[in-house]
Amino acid sequence: AAASSGGLVAYADSGSDAAVEKSQLPQRKKVVVLGTGWGGTTFLRNLDSRLYDVQVISPRNYFAFTPLLPSVTSGTVEPRSIVEPIRRILEKKGGEIKFWEAECFKIDPQNKKIHCRSNIGTNLDGNGEFLADYDYLVVAVGARTNTFNTPGVVENCHFLKEVEDAQKIRRSVMDCFERASLPFLDEEERKKNLHFVVVGGGPTGVEFAASLHDFVTEDLSKLYPSIQHLVKISLIEAADHILTMFDKRITNFAEDKFGRDGIDVKTGYKVVKVSKDTITMQNPATGNISVPYGMAVWSTGIGTRPFIVEFMKQIGQGNRRVLATDEWLRVRECDGVYAIGDCATINQRRVMEDIAAIFKVADKDKSGTLTVKEIQDVLDDIYVRYPQVQLYLKSKQMNGIADLVRSAKGDAEKESVELNIEEFKKALSLVDSQVKFLPATAQVASQQGQYLATCFNKMKDAEEHPEGPIRIRGEGRHRFRPFRYRHLGQFAPLGGEQTAAQLPGDWISIGHSTQWLWYSVYATKQISWRTRMLVVSDWTRRFIFGRDSSC
Ligand code: FAD
Ligand code: MG
Ligand code: MG
Ligand code: MG
Ligand code: MG
Repeated sequence: AAASSGGLVAYADSGSDAAVEKSQLPQRKKVVVLGTGWGGTTFLRNLDSRLYDVQVISPRNYFAFTPLLPSVTSGTVEPRSIVEPIRRILEKKGGEIKFWEAECFKIDPQNKKIHCRSNIGTNLDGNGEFLADYDYLVVAVGARTNTFNTPGVVENCHFLKEVEDAQKIRRSVMDCFERASLPFLDEEERKKNLHFVVVGGGPTGVEFAASLHDFVTEDLSKLYPSIQHLVKISLIEAADHILTMFDKRITNFAEDKFGRDGIDVKTGYKVVKVSKDTITMQNPATGNISVPYGMAVWSTGIGTRPFIVEFMKQIGQGNRRVLATDEWLRVRECDGVYAIGDCATINQRRVMEDIAAIFKVADKDKSGTLTVKEIQDVLDDIYVRYPQVQLYLKSKQMNGIADLVRSAKGDAEKESVELNIEEFKKALSLVDSQVKFLPATAQVASQQGQYLATCFNKMKDAEEHPEGPIRIRGEGRHRFRPFRYRHLGQFAPLGGEQTAAQLPGDWISIGHSTQWLWYSVYATKQISWRTRMLVVSDWTRRFIFGRDSSC
């Protein structure tokens, strides 16, 4: 209640226009946002909150800048520097938005209600449960770490997903060093305590291994001179290489650098069991081997949260692994529900499913065949609806549809070729192979949050049809442009002030200068001037004084 009256005051103060506009608004639709991570927060920051009655529900009352979590594990950056209270973000929007610190445990799409539970307070029934109604629901709850049901992982390994995880890892590293220093341990015991194992050679595992290596060689080796030679870092990856989502050149550079740094990269090994003292891994050649370890971090990819799995069963997606949306980020067969970020994936419509309809639309003169011109006239719309067509032409180094048509005809010479439906099918038969699944990254989640907010801001315009606000050129009034991801590139920090970057157009850059690019990009991307100041001063402090090793 305090929040909403604050909002009214803010409106009255901020000029009569807004106040009048507000009083004239009809009953505003209820928008409920689940989650305050990259997706949810970006959505909220971009939403015109005057248009809706907005409630935010998340068990975390802050936003965390996840790309800097690995830096928190080594104390390069302080935890508080990468978090921003959600109430501070909402306050900037004029106090119009309500926030409940609770988690959703059930979605009821029939009645448009969500069931929530608070972990910090109880109601008269003695539990913390309550219901919330929505007209529109934005599901942005992220993912959980995937253990692949490997025994002992949950009990014995650290994850690196939340700020608390990073803090725990840091404490655990220090504990291992202090334990290894105790007077009553023998050499084997000391070695065991100083064996750090990272499971998973993706970007997070690699960056964590690199930052741990820096922490050990640059800071801890000076503080623990008598045991520093016993430290070992192992990186275990089931595939044949680490960083497989990056260009081969980056993978090679990373593997070589880690080799020189003395990080033991074990590719082709699958961890099958973790106990309190040993980690067991499997390789077709060597069979099972068990090694003693001091601390292990598990970072092998993500899985779906249990209540989302339940929701998927309810709406007929029980056979899928990840919640599917259409290209407008709407959950199919589920009125008013949208899903963004790591908890969802876009089910790109295939050209082949619609091929007959496309043919019919394109064949304006109803001749039963398509000329190059006829295809070209609808091409922009095809590109928007089926981005894989453009990707396909690019991958085949074809300049345009004329090339494709001619190649389908097997006749490179003739200018005026026409395709019948069978030939048209054949020409496009391979384009769907270019359908790309978007990666689970902050970049994707935040672009989706921004897109969806834009849609919601123009929803009135699109009330009759909710397919987003932007018109596709040459199409009818109520057709709108689907979500389109713009890849801005990706970094892989490798330690020792060296970073690799893969930028659009397969532009690769590796080394110290890229590290400076990394610093500047991550300083720029901070969510507020406050966190930007804090992060930059943490970096400066680290340059001058090194990392803090107290816990
Ligand atoms: P999240 O940001 O995870 O947010 C989910 C939100 O939902 C949280 O607020 C959570 O508390 C809340 N929630 C959970 N359960 C419930 C519930 N039941 N009810 C309500 N709310 C709930 N991506 C990049 O692009 N670049 C990087 O450099 C990068 N580095 C990373 C480093 C690390 C260590 C990690 C873990 C991730 C990194 N990522 C990076 C990935 C990026 O963080 C995720 O892709 C992104 O956070 C996904 O956003 P999201 O909104 O879907 O989920
Ligand atoms: Mg989110
Ligand atoms: Mg986040
Ligand atoms: Mg996704
Ligand atoms: Mg025709």
